[in-house]
Amino acid sequence: MAMTEKLYYENPYLKELEAEVIAVLGSAVILDKTIFYPEGGGQPGDCGWFGDIPIATTEKGDDGTPLHIIAEGIAPAVGTRAKLQLDWEHRYFYMKEHSAQHLVSALLFSMHGIGTVAVHQGEDGFTVETNASDIPDSILLSVEDAASDAIREGHRIWQEEVEHSDAEALHMRRSIKVGGRVRIVHIEGIDEVACGGVHAGNTREIGEIAYAGKERIRSHIRTMWKCAGPAVSFRRKNMEIVRALSALFSAERQDIVREAERVSTECSELKRNIRKLEERIASLELDKALSDGPAFILSDIPVSAYDGILPSGFLYPILIVDGAGRLLFHGDEDLFAKLRGTLQIKGGGRNNLFHGSFADSPSDFLNAAREVICGND
Ligand SMILES: [Zn+2]
Repeated sequence: MAMTEKLYYENPYLKELEAEVIAVLGSAVILDKTIFYPEGGGQPGDCGWFGDIPIATTEKGDDGTPLHIIAEGIAPAVGTRAKLQLDWEHRYFYMKEHSAQHLVSALLFSMHGIGTVAVHQGEDGFTVETNASDIPDSILLSVEDAASDAIREGHRIWQEEVEHSDAEALHMRRSIKVGGRVRIVHIEGIDEVACGGVHAGNTREIGEIAYAGKERIRSHIRTMWKCAGPAVSFRRKNMEIVRALSALFSAERQDIVREAERVSTECSELKRNIRKLEERIASLELDKALSDGPAFILSDIPVSAYDGILPSGFLYPILIVDGAGRLLFHGDEDLFAKLRGTLQIKGGGRNNLFHGSFADSPSDFLNAAREVICGND
């Protein structure tokens, strides 16, 4: 297999480079040297251009060779020389995000003994899946504080390749997953770990970091973080939400939660009261409608209010419809089957009680149903 010189390790800040095509496999182009990092270790592959051909992403071949993937158009011929140019904004963001992830994983471990089992980088934030079954927010906020300090202090980040045995002797927080020589990434005074990704040169470049939440995944806690631009947007968005809620509840910032709780309690009480009133209305409507023949009720309240108050036995069918297009039928099963077969009803039930819905206007539906039920007159 062709050998590609991987310059993204030597100088992660190199944005463009003259390169030559040495092999083409379908839409995958292999170059004699590259500054494009192939996807790996939770970090997405680089995109950019080779001459004027857009490179959609970069993947790792079976032997680790970077494959420059062309999304559209024709692959260049072997021997073509052109300028390889990174989508620097994309790449630099992921360098910063990857460095922020190291920082968070390192601090979780050094401050709280929490290990990292998996990481994922995205354009709007990264996740650190931990080996802990529960982590209080106070711990995650202490990590956020320490990470912010490290960003402000400006710790140098650098990488070196060492022999496997020398790497083992470092007793790093994460076991080494590769054989042969090992790439160690250092954050001055904070962390050293084996990693094949590309990182920023100093923690200061990360700019900002924000703890953005956690979730349970399998039996572990996965923590969510944002750095750089997404961290700024996240805090700004949170403030917008607070301002909107403050206006909505006519409450000062510190009173919003209490006010929301009060409104929520009041709402629950109102719902309970409305339900009681609906059942009272249903009972009156039913009394009025029940006589010595089928009863038809076009109800202003939801048919569900009638659920508990229908007579246990029945002499005549009762059909109740409401303005939301729902119906309640109390009567013989065969008669309901006939109604359902004649009119467009969705629904069913048992023990002479049937629930359903219909698409017609309620009064039209009720008239049509009346004809089906009393049709043999
Ligand atoms: Zn890394």
